[in-house]
Amino acid sequence: MLPQFIYYLIKYIKFQEKIIYGLLGIILGKSVARGLYDEPVNKPYRKLEVDEMPIIETLEKLDYQELLTTYKEQHGKELKPVVRRKNSVVKVPKKLTCPKCSAPSSYLYANNGDKGQYRCKVCKCLFSQKNRFLKEAILKCPHCLKTLERIKERKDFYVYKCKNNKCFYYQRKLKAMSKDEKKRFKQDPQAFKVRYIFREFHLDFDPLAKETPVKPKVDLSRIYVSTHTLGLILTYYVNYGLSARKTAALMYDVHSVKISHQTILNYANSVALITKPFIDHYPYELSNSFCGDETYIRVGGRWHYLFFFFDAVKKIILSYPVSPNRDTPSAIKALGDVFKKFKEIPKDLMFVVDGNPIYILAQHYFAQHDIHFDIHKVIGLTNDDPVSKEYRPLKQIIERLNRTFKGNYRATTGFGSQDGSVSYVTLFVAYFNFLRPHSSLENRVPVIIPELEKMPNMPERWTKLISLAQDFLVESQSA
Ligand SMILES: [Zn+2]
Ligand SMILES: [Zn+2]
Repeated sequence: MLPQFIYYLIKYIKFQEKIIYGLLGIILGKSVARGLYDEPVNKPYRKLEVDEMPIIETLEKLDYQELLTTYKEQHGKELKPVVRRKNSVVKVPKKLTCPKCSAPSSYLYANNGDKGQYRCKVCKCLFSQKNRFLKEAILKCPHCLKTLERIKERKDFYVYKCKNNKCFYYQRKLKAMSKDEKKRFKQDPQAFKVRYIFREFHLDFDPLAKETPVKPKVDLSRIYVSTHTLGLILTYYVNYGLSARKTAALMYDVHSVKISHQTILNYANSVALITKPFIDHYPYELSNSFCGDETYIRVGGRWHYLFFFFDAVKKIILSYPVSPNRDTPSAIKALGDVFKKFKEIPKDLMFVVDGNPIYILAQHYFAQHDIHFDIHKVIGLTNDDPVSKEYRPLKQIIERLNRTFKGNYRATTGFGSQDGSVSYVTLFVAYFNFLRPHSSLENRVPVIIPELEKMPNMPERWTKLISLAQDFLVESQSA
């Protein structure tokens, strides 16, 4: 009885505390209250039922030039382009080509008046602008093998639906409804997901594009401290997670170097820009098991998501994009950054992530690009399901990584800009991969570079790492 009473009392006190901060916010202005009571809201991700992949049938592709040659052989004359009536109302767009045989627009009839249908004179294919993709590949329901219908167009994806009333999926869902649910379903069918759905993501970036490293526009010679001093600053600021202000104070109190905290932030930014290409293009030796998780960081006064993906065996961070959204394009970007690290993508890749459906959607996206991998979800805090139990140790590894990051990050009171946050994350990754001994690796660093190992102390190692990163940039520019 008593513990429960105390529990309610605490809840009540917490509730009052919130009201007090709310009132403080009204009286003193938002920022004061926010400073006192601001924590990232651990918003649960949107629960979304993600169905399995559809069956993708790629259609036979023809070559209009070959078809034209065959035509000439068989008929003894060439197939002429379409003759258009002079005052024809329906125009065929110049850039339009046949989806099946790639014949240019001069071979296309505007079929069916002005309804937007075209017929190819070369291969006889009938199509419209809208169903062009469907002429290249057909998406079929995995339950009933009927062709899916595109029903919605969103910013990043199309929604396809199986509209077949005899579909097993649909039938099963209907059967599973209780009487009450059936009643509600009749009134509001939109509130229920009863049909097979597939989301086809189309992004305006290529998550697998291997960019050549670009030399950043920073000049380290404009850093007016010795390389050793710079190494010291990075050691305090990154390895020990001291704030820029504390680092500045320590530099003055212990080393008699007068330097402002803003200068420290500027230096950190420059070093991050120089080392990022080295970190991202390093020829890592990887295993095939990876863990991923999202954590919060503050950018420009707002909470953003940092996606960490790392090699569960080798303890190497491979992917660390920062995004304002916890959405599928961000998950695709994060996974793409992992795939880019492979010369050849192994067949038996495995990722352990939380239960967020964005990773399943990302998995479908990559499957369409012929990259296949397993996803194991670890949900919640108890070992309720067998999958969670088996892969929990892996999830704990990434949660430990997140804690390590947060321990270092906490001092840095957030960042004024996207650049600032990316800089700190980049330096943390440099430290984590190349400089930080890891207990589960017998206290060795995840990536051993002999030149770094030789250095007598941490500031010297930072200095060496920067010079290796600079050498890498020079080499990649001249290659
Ligand atoms: Zn054609
Ligand atoms: Zn179906």
